[in-house]
Amino acid sequence: MSITITADFDGGNIEVLSGQGGAWDLAIRPDHNSHYYQWFYFRVDGAAGVDLTLRLTNAGGSAYTGGWENYRARVSTDNADWLCADTSYENGVLTIRHRTDADTLWFAYFAPFDSQRHRAFVAQVKTLPGMAHRVLGQTLDGRDLDLFTLGDGPAKVWLYARQHPGETMAEWWMEGAIAFLPGSDPAAQHLRQAATFYIVLNMNPDGSARGHLRTNAAGVDLNREWGGPTMERSPEIVYVLDAMQKSGVDFAIDVHGDEAIPHVFMAGFEGTPSWSEARAALYQSYLDRLMARTADFQTTYGYDIPGPGAANLAISTNAVAERFTAIAMTLEMPFKDHDDAPEPVRAWSPDRSRKLGETCLLALADIVEAL
Ligand code: ZN
Repeated sequence: MSITITADFDGGNIEVLSGQGGAWDLAIRPDHNSHYYQWFYFRVDGAAGVDLTLRLTNAGGSAYTGGWENYRARVSTDNADWLCADTSYENGVLTIRHRTDADTLWFAYFAPFDSQRHRAFVAQVKTLPGMAHRVLGQTLDGRDLDLFTLGDGPAKVWLYARQHPGETMAEWWMEGAIAFLPGSDPAAQHLRQAATFYIVLNMNPDGSARGHLRTNAAGVDLNREWGGPTMERSPEIVYVLDAMQKSGVDFAIDVHGDEAIPHVFMAGFEGTPSWSEARAALYQSYLDRLMARTADFQTTYGYDIPGPGAANLAISTNAVAERFTAIAMTLEMPFKDHDDAPEPVRAWSPDRSRKLGETCLLALADIVEAL
């Protein structure tokens, strides 16, 4: 039986260039109307007993070439449990080598979270006790942008994920947060009494379905639209900013993945004009609580911190911190692994993302009274 390779499904991304036997040359397709690409997700049929050598020939032109150093592609026989595959990067080509007895294999940049799973997630969250649901509006491809609210406390807490659709760990994080927050754990009850939560499980359902790395249906990077979103380019941000304007924001986590840095880290709102020592101290106390609760978070490695007044106010965290005088932050999880607590078989994974979602809320419970 000969091998076939396809990405013709939700979230799929690959172009088949040429191949023979188990050796195939492939390319990652750029986001629609954009030069960004890095996300891949495809299926190989007829793979049983074949030594596969899959070359992603345009990896050297991707958005974050630093993301390929010491990176391992994810492989699955059931499209559900994802393991690390033998992967190398040389001369701009990412090469995945794999041999299996299974006839069908899936490969992906990170464990996918597809539209079907997203729709089932939305339907499930709607049924949870205390959870209110509202469709904020439609995306450019006609999908719902859903907002959930929970709790009745005075602090306004926003949690939103996956502005960058290829960063699927962000929606896995949401699964963990949602499994915890409406439940009976005393810390969850405390959070619901002290705060009202506003939750967007997926900020970019169009880009997710299209198999994009970074942009929406119009090829727009939503996390550069917060200075002036428009209905033509970025209705997702128009809707969410409007809802934030109505609710106010005291504390916000924007959940992401980072291609290059092999750590879990936070990017704060340093460099915003309204940055103050009081808010800096509260932000730091949150990071300290998070670090105390898990070996999966650290503050040594991360992005360079902008100088006073140098923050990019088109980025969500900075825009929200500035507009609402909020404690706002961008959580970054790795595509590679968290090198302070590595996991050799699955590396950073859906399970660890979920666990971190719960831990981020436990840490919030420690400081929520101060918001
Ligand atoms: Zn991102």
